Amino acid sequence: MDLEQAVNSRAESHNRTIKLVEILESCELCPRRCRVNRLRGEKGYCRSGSELVISSHGPHFGEEPELVGSHGSGTVFMTNCNLQCVYCQNYEISQLGYGSEVSNARAVDIMLGLQETGCHNINLVTPTHFAPQLVQAITAAKRLGLKIPIIWNCGGYENVDVIKLLEGFVDVYMPDMKYSETRPAERYSNAPDYFERSKEAVLEMQRQVGDLKVDGRGVAYRGLLIRHLVLPNDLAGSEKILEFISEEVSKDCYVNIMAQYRPCGRASEYEELSRRPTRDEYSRVVEVSRKLGLYRGLQEVHAYS
Ligand code: SF4
Repeated sequence: MDLEQAVNSRAESHNRTIKLVEILESCELCPRRCRVNRLRGEKGYCRSGSELVISSHGPHFGEEPELVGSHGSGTVFMTNCNLQCVYCQNYEISQLGYGSEVSNARAVDIMLGLQETGCHNINLVTPTHFAPQLVQAITAAKRLGLKIPIIWNCGGYENVDVIKLLEGFVDVYMPDMKYSETRPAERYSNAPDYFERSKEAVLEMQRQVGDLKVDGRGVAYRGLLIRHLVLPNDLAGSEKILEFISEEVSKDCYVNIMAQYRPCGRASEYEELSRRPTRDEYSRVVEVSRKLGLYRGLQEVHAYS
């Protein structure tokens, strides 16, 4: 990149950061479009204001091997959530508000500290509702020497126009694709339009960063990684999601079919959600993925334990 391109790119990033911050005045960061003025302390569905709220941070070794490498993924868990699934395994963080407000400057310190400890990336968990604050922190951290990739580890219920504004700030997008059917998306996450919004967002993510790329150590540095959690009784509508990925995203897309669903949060209030998926239910989803030509990230059935 020559000097003129570098100046233009910096100006472009600056403009996009300003646009993101302005959205907080009438919040449309996610498809709920609450239109509350978060800069004046009003709160919408996600109960988040103008300040970042973080519940924890540190090296994490339970993510995909391409993120964990030898020194861990540098996770930063955001408090609150724009989805609030009834079965959330982080219910206290996503829905009960466990966490502390931090300044953007403190977020910068956290990111640089994770890099200092050897983490391979900054893994922003549930970042959607804090996109403007995080982009500001990422920009400042990069000026102070942050070099490791930024991972956008989101729930997939995204405003595609906001994802467009994130171009250049994010290296690896890691969205969930949770549901393909309206009824479960509405019943368990209050988001009947989940599949439409997640498809739009994933296509934009793929346009920006392409298939997942790894370096010589096998550590991811750019690209798209989709997570799909298998729910009992096929409540996720897995096949339609996998068809979309195979046919409209890429057959080389990295897809982690996750087996770890357990009834957490308020799941026990819903009989159909109150058990784990069986081994057969899990292996069927993996088999469908293979039949559709997907192969990257697929775990063997022994992942079910
Ligand atoms: S980020 Fe929060 S306040 Fe903004 S539209 Fe989404 S749920 Fe509403």
